[in-house]
Formats: sequence, C-alpha cells, structure tokens
Amino acid sequence: MFFFILVVGFVIAATYYRHQLEAAYEEAGRRAAPIRSAILPFPQTYKEILLKYFPYYNRLNSSQQHAFEQKLLTFILSKKFIPRQFDAVTDEMKVMIGACAVQLTFGLPRVYLQHFSKILIYPTDYYSSLTKRFHKGEVNPAFGAIVLSWKSFVDGYIYPTDSVNLGLHEMAHALRLENIIHNDEYDFFDDALVEKFDAYAYQLCHLPQYADESFLRAYACANEHEFFAVAVENFFERPAEFKHALPELYETLTKLLRQDPLILNP
Ligand SMILES: [Zn+2]
Repeated sequence: MFFFILVVGFVIAATYYRHQLEAAYEEAGRRAAPIRSAILPFPQTYKEILLKYFPYYNRLNSSQQHAFEQKLLTFILSKKFIPRQFDAVTDEMKVMIGACAVQLTFGLPRVYLQHFSKILIYPTDYYSSLTKRFHKGEVNPAFGAIVLSWKSFVDGYIYPTDSVNLGLHEMAHALRLENIIHNDEYDFFDDALVEKFDAYAYQLCHLPQYADESFLRAYACANEHEFFAVAVENFFERPAEFKHALPELYETLTKLLRQDPLILNP
C-alpha cells in the first residue's frame, strides 16, 4: 500500500513538474520571439496562406512583404493561441489572425500588442455566461487576452469592403489599450493626435443630423473606444470613401497609425 501511494505520488509530482517545465519553455519561447523570428525562415505554408487570402500583403512591394513576414512571425511566436470548444488551432488561423494584427500595426514597428499574450479562438460566436449574450469577440485586458469567433473573423476578410471586420475591430481595441498600459510598447501614439481624434468623434456623434447621415455605423458613437475601432474597420475596408466623407478624421488616423491604405506601396 505504501509503495502504491509512493508511486502515485511520484507520478503526480512528475506530471506537475512536466507541466511547469513545458509552461516555462513556452514562456521562454515567447520571450525569445524577436530573435527566433530573425533566425527562422518564414515558412512557405504561411506565405501561401497570405498570398491566397490576405489582399493587404499582396499589395506590398517585396521589401515591405519581407518586413510584414518578419513582424508576423514575431507576433505568432510571441502569442499563445488557445482553442476553445475545438481541438487545435491551425496554421491558417495563426497566420490570418497574426496578419490582421500586423496590418493594423504595420506603421508602428515596435508594437506587437505585447500585453495581449493570449489569443482565444472559438469556432463560432460564443455565449458569455457573464453578459448572457452571444459574442463575436472581445478584448480582455485583465487576462491579457484577445477573444475571437473564427467564423466572424473570416467573414471580415470574405467581405473585404463592407466596412465590417471583427479582427481589425478587436485589434484596434487592443491597440488603443496597449498605448496606455505601462510596458515596453507604452505611449506610441502622439497624445495630441489622440485628443484631436476623440474631439472629432465627439463632434460627429453630437451633430443633430449625424444619426441619419453618418458615414460610420451608429455603433461608433457608443464611446470613444468603439468609435476608434469602427473607424479602423472603415480605414482599411473603404479608405477612399472614408477620406472623401471625413477627410480630417481620415488624415488624423493616417498619422496615428503611420500608414495610408490608399498609398500602401508609395
Ligand atoms: Zn468594440
């Protein structure tokens, strides 16, 4: 009996330490992501996914594509992708979600949304017991997590000009939060520009006729975070219309994100 308890105890302890060790390796791997991505070749399978499904990447010249690949690999290696209600995260999921983050932050070289180290993926829209509602995605700063419904994420890229893109919307929330979280990436936005952007948002949302004539969907006026996220979706999905309808807001966004989707490849 004593021997049996000893063996069971040993197995439990060994399993516990193996998990600890694996977690430590994973964490070390994520921390070394910038070095690993500089050494490792960009996988051909990743490139094929980008060529097939990611128009933004296809519009870049070859040196920009190289920079995009480098940033994407660092992003993928530095995040923990967690499947929820299904078995395993595929390369396609990692590449597409990572590419979405790189698209948004391509003009901000040192920004990788560092605080958000976990990407939780549900196969479809998921039920939240907290809000008692179905969700497509959310950003949870307390858990350092970005949560996405894969189906809704993919819809964002299947319909590239309808101004609805869940991935860009949630990444935009994460980006705005990252700017005010104290870490290596802290304070990359020019404060005056953020203030200018929010002042435009306030003005637009308080125009009496705005509800009828708005270029951005009404949800943008929920608060300044939603306004920023919805503006980002429009910035990438219908930049010409955005620039025409709200030129000053568009220009402020080009300065904040340090890129212009209308002239990606100058
Ligand atoms: Zn939102």
